[in-house]
Amino acid sequence: MLKKILPGLAAILAALLLAVAINTLRQGSRQIDVPPVQPLAFDENAAAQRLAAAVRLRTISFDGQSAASAAEFRKLHALLKKFFPRAHAALKRETVNELSLLYAWPGSDPAAKPVMLMAHQDVVPIASGTERDWQADPFAGEIRDGFVWGRGAWDNKANLFAIFEAIETLAASGFKPRQTLYIVAGHDEEIGGEQGAMAIAALLQSRGVRLDFVVDEGLLITEGILKGLDRPAALIGIAEKGYLTLALAAKARPGHSSMPPPETAIGMLSAALARLEDRQMPAAIRGVAAEMFDTLAPEMGGVNRVLLSNLWLFGPVVKSQLEKGASTNAMLRTTTALTVVQGGNKENVLPGRAEALVNFRILPGDTGNGVSAHVKATVANEAISVARSGHANEPTPISPSAAPSYRLINRTIRELFSGTVVAPSLMIAATDSRHMASIADAIYRFSPVRAKSEDLPRFHGTNERISVANHAELIRFYHRLLLNAAGTPEEKK
Ligand SMILES: [Zn+2]
Repeated sequence: MLKKILPGLAAILAALLLAVAINTLRQGSRQIDVPPVQPLAFDENAAAQRLAAAVRLRTISFDGQSAASAAEFRKLHALLKKFFPRAHAALKRETVNELSLLYAWPGSDPAAKPVMLMAHQDVVPIASGTERDWQADPFAGEIRDGFVWGRGAWDNKANLFAIFEAIETLAASGFKPRQTLYIVAGHDEEIGGEQGAMAIAALLQSRGVRLDFVVDEGLLITEGILKGLDRPAALIGIAEKGYLTLALAAKARPGHSSMPPPETAIGMLSAALARLEDRQMPAAIRGVAAEMFDTLAPEMGGVNRVLLSNLWLFGPVVKSQLEKGASTNAMLRTTTALTVVQGGNKENVLPGRAEALVNFRILPGDTGNGVSAHVKATVANEAISVARSGHANEPTPISPSAAPSYRLINRTIRELFSGTVVAPSLMIAATDSRHMASIADAIYRFSPVRAKSEDLPRFHGTNERISVANHAELIRFYHRLLLNAAGTPEEKK
């Protein structure tokens, strides 16, 4: 009997190995081949000084914007005018809700759909208790050890100023864009963008504007962050997750704790919350995540390449590995985060009510209603109500990675950052660009900020900074992107 089975098993194993090997080798690189370009030469330190001046302005966003910070925003507007006179001569400038900025540079081809670059003016506050952990005063705009230090140096004044540095240079050279170029600089991105980007989107929509594509802040050039990849990876966010908070409230009869009934408000709520953590929304390597891994796999080495090139066989193994990491897990599913719980106010009294907030980040493909249905089915308790709380938004549409606009960004990165792998990816946090979804054919969330694992906590955190050299790369990126978009890269090298 065994003699008959063994050769059969061996044949199956050999066929599997062969299929794995063929798949691994067949999936060739998707990286586009472009010759590197001569980097634009300019005074990098002077550009860093201008960024540092912007960092000194406390354009801090908090709910109920104060008059004090409104004055800081106006100072920032004045800085832009002072530092970039040619840009301000070439572009039309409007303010929206007083503090947000909308610029337009009319294109030479009125039939072409416009393009939009975005960067927000506001910054997050310094978390109280962390002030002393800073190696430089967060609002001093210090340049030290080759870095511009301070709140906003990375998020997002570097991008705002790099866009204007690029436009200033282009305007000085007599360049005119082919497509009309909009620059949007919102003042309330960190608190939802309703007064800024959302209002600007509505204004442009009322004028009948339809955008070819938008580039906003987002994913980065990661260095050593992606397992199995020994080169930098420029990740372009082609979609953004949605946002939903559900309020759970358990009701029970209040009473004395000396005679507790079998079911209490806190007990029922706790059990429901535990079930929600246990039975999460399903994870899968599909959609944007699948596209990212398909693009990265051929660039990887060793076992990672074999595994990711053969998801038909190793999918379950890879998925369970990815689910173990918080950031990779967030790419595969709608995440469930228990963020607030309240109930009871005295040790010997059973409360009549216990409440919790659960925050979900919705994967493209899932919906807010789908999440609510999942929660109700998982809670499965009539004594617990489930209701939406606060603002919510659905995941954005997925922008095409096969579109000419994606290829334009891809090419610009490959020209300027040689050896960098470019891949589409999923933005798991929110950006102002989501407000443009209804007026744009495509939205890409990318900024060529270089980041290693140890840099990531600086984002919204302590010791935020950007290197002078990296800031110069941002300027070159926007400069080259606009040249490439105009289709005149050769004579304008
Ligand atoms: Zn930001």
